[in-house]
Amino acid sequence: MRSLHRLLRSIRRTLVPDLCCICGCSLGPNEEGLCLSCLSKLPYTHIHGQPGNSVECCFWGLIPIERAAAYIAYRQGGQSARLFSALKYHGRVELGQIMGRQMAKAMKPYGMFDGIDAIVPIPLAAERMRERGYNQALLLAEGVSQETGLPVLTDAVRRVVSNPTQTRLNRAERWENVKGIFVADHPEQFRGKHVLLMDDIVTTGSTLVACAQALMGAGEIKFSVLTLGMGVSVSMMPYSPPDDEEGEYDMSYEPYIVREDPDQ
Ligand SMILES: [Zn+2]
Repeated sequence: MRSLHRLLRSIRRTLVPDLCCICGCSLGPNEEGLCLSCLSKLPYTHIHGQPGNSVECCFWGLIPIERAAAYIAYRQGGQSARLFSALKYHGRVELGQIMGRQMAKAMKPYGMFDGIDAIVPIPLAAERMRERGYNQALLLAEGVSQETGLPVLTDAVRRVVSNPTQTRLNRAERWENVKGIFVADHPEQFRGKHVLLMDDIVTTGSTLVACAQALMGAGEIKFSVLTLGMGVSVSMMPYSPPDDEEGEYDMSYEPYIVREDPDQ
């Protein structure tokens, strides 16, 4: 089945060559979604495996958080922004699973998935799902699942309100804006479980917290959080970047700005 899939893919590539979502070059036989050069230059955060990292701090005191990580930094106008834009707005759905698998491979050795029972991707509201046709958080979760074997639960929580854009809201207003937008029909199934919440970008963490709170209805539950990207609010948190990683840039000084995003 896998070889058939590979054959079909190579036929399709001959007819319509796949292009890198960042630089636009034609992809080679061992490249998927983005070229190896662009992949190597993404601004990786390297925060997984660091207890108390800047993403984890967003959730302290709000939900029972075990671990949290974001794979790459989101910088407006930068290379990583093209990746997010391609995944979210330009229908490059294959990037979701590709990047999900990449993150899982990178983070598994650091124990990111230890003890986790299931992955819950942040759902889109039905209306938004109809417009876009896919949920990028689910695609990322599927990629992680392919690498870790963890189940992905798509009906654990529903988004009942397609909340208006948060772009022009301040931090406090954002928190108010997401209250009650998620509902879990059977939170009791999560009693005693460790759930990995996944989304494409973490900005203030308010959407992820609102989703977690819906699942907390039955009491004892713990969470880890994993996103593909992190935005300005998170990267301005105290954080010491590693010294000499290729493609690294110093997140303690350079501000990142998250482009307008109707879902966040
Ligand atoms: Zn490229």
